[in-house]
Amino acid sequence: MTVHRNLARIMLPESLQFDRQHIWHPYTSLTSPLAVYAVDSARGVRLRFADGREVIDGMASWWCVIHGYNHPLLNDALKSQLDRMAHVMFGGLTHEPAVELCRRLVDMTPEPLEHVFLSDSGSVSVEVAMKMAIQYWYGRKEPGRQRFLTIRNGYHGDTFGAMSVCDPVNGMHHLFSGMLPGQLFAPAPGIAPGEQWDESAISPFAALLEEHASEIAAVILEPVVQGAGGMRFYHPEYLRRVRELCDMHGVLLIADEIATGFGRTGRLFACEHADVVPDILCVGKALTGGYMSLAATLATDEVARGACADNQVFMHGPTFMGNPLACSVASVSLELLAGNQWQQSVERIEKWLKAELLPLNELAAVEEARVFGAIGVLEMKERLDVARVQSMLVERGVWLRPFGKLLYTMPPYVMSDEELAEVTAAMREVAASL
Ligand SMILES: *Cc1c(COP(=O)(O)O)cnc(C)c1O
Repeated sequence: MTVHRNLARIMLPESLQFDRQHIWHPYTSLTSPLAVYAVDSARGVRLRFADGREVIDGMASWWCVIHGYNHPLLNDALKSQLDRMAHVMFGGLTHEPAVELCRRLVDMTPEPLEHVFLSDSGSVSVEVAMKMAIQYWYGRKEPGRQRFLTIRNGYHGDTFGAMSVCDPVNGMHHLFSGMLPGQLFAPAPGIAPGEQWDESAISPFAALLEEHASEIAAVILEPVVQGAGGMRFYHPEYLRRVRELCDMHGVLLIADEIATGFGRTGRLFACEHADVVPDILCVGKALTGGYMSLAATLATDEVARGACADNQVFMHGPTFMGNPLACSVASVSLELLAGNQWQQSVERIEKWLKAELLPLNELAAVEEARVFGAIGVLEMKERLDVARVQSMLVERGVWLRPFGKLLYTMPPYVMSDEELAEVTAAMREVAASL
């Protein structure tokens, strides 16, 4: 069996054809799908395609694989848990993998966040956060607070509640307008980190909050880095002012750190850039080092007690809640993070990305090159032809997934300078070819 595992599994043309005809891929059409590349295996920062080619993964599989693929300690965590139990229901049962993981999460997040709700994906952790906020106000005898205030260009997931607070244009709200609750949207924060802060930048947000405070359950946003809604970075002072305004109006603050959590921005959590603590925190993506689907919603004691006032139960319970395999691998991933000086790695990657990508601001096709933490973005003037760009990149031995006008990288923290050089050189070539 061991031998078998090391042999490339050839993907037959029939399999690719079946895929094309029957299987939906993310954010694509079933009738005219984009090309997909068949992966045989992955190791370190490299994907090995079924045809034998290898590419360096600058996407970390949608930002999750921070320690690299096929990590021996993460593999061992899963194998040893597998021999005990793959899964048991979490209703009425508990187990050491879940307790250990939640203890770690409570320890590594700011002190007031001390209650954990485990779920199976980021979107669900956002749904849970929104339900918790509404139920908190119910418990506090203000049941009229059921709306959410957010900022444009945000992304919080693809389920309905989460989608209702995504950017209305990117999230295609017009398709679902009959189903989506009407939330409140402030303009996207206009000032980048490092730019001069200008108090007028918060005024539209402050005005909306003041006008609607009595109907708002919570403000929800991605702290400092807006991910899938446009890969934009904003001034931490904006976040600090949001926290102050929420306190002033007695509104909860939900921080969606699903993309930013666990070091990606140079701090363990992006909220730290502004020294703020949310009332509710969502984490996911890198939580398991990219091994399995798992997310968590953390809440303060105040929120948890409000939501469960008068013996009210919290009506949410995913079938695979607290899955022992996912919890075991997440615990080891967090342990690795604590031990492996992620901060130096992220700083090293940031330095490299700045040196290689910021000069590309000079290129005619580039609208803006920007870097924050281990995130490097080239925003083009025109939309990218994904299929063409992707095949150019694969030719160069690099895997990236452009969207809209954006060509960006969020590499695994373990990527070496030499490998990073391949990624940034490929980005430069694409940008120069446009
Ligand atoms: C990816 C993401 C989500 C959704 O997570 P899924 O696991 O894909 O459901 C929510 N919020 C942010 C900020 C994300 O980056």
